[in-house]
Amino acid sequence: MAVEGANREASRWLQAFGKALANHDIAGATLLFEKECYWRDLVSLTWTLKTFEGRDEVKAMLSATLAAAKPANVVQLGPATEANGAIEAWFAFETATGRGNGHLRLRNGKCWTMLTTLQELKGFEEKAGRARERGVEQGVHPDRLSWAERRRLEESALGMERQPYVVIIGGGQSGLALAARLKRLQVPALVIEKNERAVPSTSGRRKRSFWSSVPNKCRISPLPASGA
Ligand SMILES: Cc1cc2nc3c(=O)[nH]c(=O)nc-3n(C[C@H](O)[C@H](O)[C@H](O)COP(=O)(O)OP(=O)(O)OC[C@H]3O[C@@H](n4cnc5c(N)ncnc54)[C@H](O)[C@@H]3O)c2cc1C
Repeated sequence: MAVEGANREASRWLQAFGKALANHDIAGATLLFEKECYWRDLVSLTWTLKTFEGRDEVKAMLSATLAAAKPANVVQLGPATEANGAIEAWFAFETATGRGNGHLRLRNGKCWTMLTTLQELKGFEEKAGRARERGVEQGVHPDRLSWAERRRLEESALGMERQPYVVIIGGGQSGLALAARLKRLQVPALVIEKNERAVPSTSGRRKRSFWSSVPNKCRISPLPASGA
């Protein structure tokens, strides 16, 4: 099938799906899925990580979540593609509380697999890109505080006027990366490091620590592969 054909089919399906969700038409939305279908939701509708298998489970999940989650604005992202007899497309959507992205695979015009993932909470968008916090304030500001002064104020307020929501044990690579991410999400976090300084370095480490940090597990998608 040419790209236009795949696009047409994906966008037609997404429109019908969006319309069914907006109308709270759970039976109609469920009929857009194949009998053998898989919907994996990461937090967006269910607030948990779960895969729903088959129309009955999809229907039960929608019945339990649709009224509160209010999924809407389902929009295709980028062109659809076709591989091993399935049409694939990415899409964006909103819920009452957040915004998410999803992935869809269609077989014979019906949904075979769907992934929905929550990306951000409304009102708590990450300070990234143009919204990123600036380290330096350019221009003439007589009372401007330097980065170090602001840092000292922030440090002295944390735990006193501003309580941390998260305590991170260990200021190594993972601890610092998590702290930086939480800061961009405006979640106050406190890093506790047993050494004098938090340094994400490997110097002076015991060999055992190396082996304990090597990724020793892999994540396997519970969704079936194309052509499976
Ligand atoms: C010899 C060696 C060479 C390596 N070379 C590389 C490399 O070249 N490139 C690379 O990408 N990776 C390398 N690694 C791996 C890399 O160092 C680790 O993957 C990475 O440091 C893991 O980060 P982490 O934050 O999970 O753990 P760590 O970096 O181990 O950080 C954990 C932190 O927690 C602190 N801590 C522990 N317990 C407590 C406690 N109870 N209270 C408070 N603080 C605590 C520790 O002091 C430490 O600072 C190497 C590792 C070793 C050992």
